[in-house]
Amino acid sequence: MRDPAQELAELDEQGLRRKLRRLESPQGVRIQLDDGKIYHNFSSNDYLGFADSDFLKEAYCRNVKVQGAGSGASRLVCGTMGAHAVLEKKLAHFKNTEAALTFATGFATATGAIPAICGKKDFIILDKLCHASLIDGARLSGATMRVFPHNDTEALAKHLRWAERRAGNGARILVVTESVFSMDGDRAPLKEICGITKSSPALLFVDEAHAFGIVGNQGRGLVASLGLEREVDFQMGTFSKALGLSGGYICARRDWIDLLVNRARSFVYSTAPSPALAATISDALDLVSSEVGEEARRRLESNLAKLSRPTESAIVPVVIGENEAALAASERLRERGFLVPAIRFPTVPRGTSRLRITLSAAHDTAQIESLESALAETL
Ligand SMILES: *Cc1c(COP(=O)(O)O)cnc(C)c1O
Repeated sequence: MRDPAQELAELDEQGLRRKLRRLESPQGVRIQLDDGKIYHNFSSNDYLGFADSDFLKEAYCRNVKVQGAGSGASRLVCGTMGAHAVLEKKLAHFKNTEAALTFATGFATATGAIPAICGKKDFIILDKLCHASLIDGARLSGATMRVFPHNDTEALAKHLRWAERRAGNGARILVVTESVFSMDGDRAPLKEICGITKSSPALLFVDEAHAFGIVGNQGRGLVASLGLEREVDFQMGTFSKALGLSGGYICARRDWIDLLVNRARSFVYSTAPSPALAATISDALDLVSSEVGEEARRRLESNLAKLSRPTESAIVPVVIGENEAALAASERLRERGFLVPAIRFPTVPRGTSRLRITLSAAHDTAQIESLESALAETL
């Protein structure tokens, strides 16, 4: 039998061992680690600074008292609580779709929804840089998978024609991409992709995890800001990034959502998220679409403009290459008081290890300027 210690030693050797680091403070742009020191935090996806906001903390406390702490069972077993129904109605309205379904996490959303849409006789075509949850969802489905080079629409069109020739009667073809990519921070050419899928029977699934709450009017996401709600069959997203909470969603046509209720195993066989959380997500949605959300998005935008690197999102990758070099750079930044994670294989392709800087509306100018000088000294 393989020894776990041996496996860990191999990870160590390759510079791929990961360890949990304990925080001694709530989330924020300044956090305390277990060495007692306070660090400038450039590692979180809490882009608008909502996670530890008074607004959400107070809403959460209020909602626990009114809605209760736990949900008791899967929604198909013990009934759907009002808080979940209200949230889904609000979300569908916000995203301009017929219906919406929420899940416990973004990961559970992808791994539940994709195998509910596609099975063994179907085809799934994914962008090479799709998030692990999308890849795992596609693998779980048993469908034939094809991967196209990142944002390469010509290759996508080729794969699509290939799949169309092979797809039997009634077979589905699903194209999967992200709108803002999680580790590169760049955007998918969604208009072009829609142009390609529109002239084919293929369905389109777009993960907006890093665009929801950030991109477009009221933070509705890239699909909505381009007016592509009718072309994109499945808009996925999470409440765990800009909204500062946790959970995931699919917005789609009513019949698709009804099918997910029946077939998505991470929905059917999993206890519903706490009703207090569902109600707080509704409150966060109100906040993100309000003037407070607009103001936070403007602050984030102006923070991004203070960086010397051009960016298309709040995610700023600094590609270094080798694992050890990326780890060493991250460590040198930590010694100077900055938390900037080194992202390695298998999260990113081999040879593209990088620092992943994320900016928040809550960072102040001094923090960003001192990060810039620390980067200049360490790289
Ligand atoms: C974070 C993320 C997920 C997973 O969402 P969680 O709510 O963290 O489980 C899915 N897709 C993308 C692109 C992500 O960045």
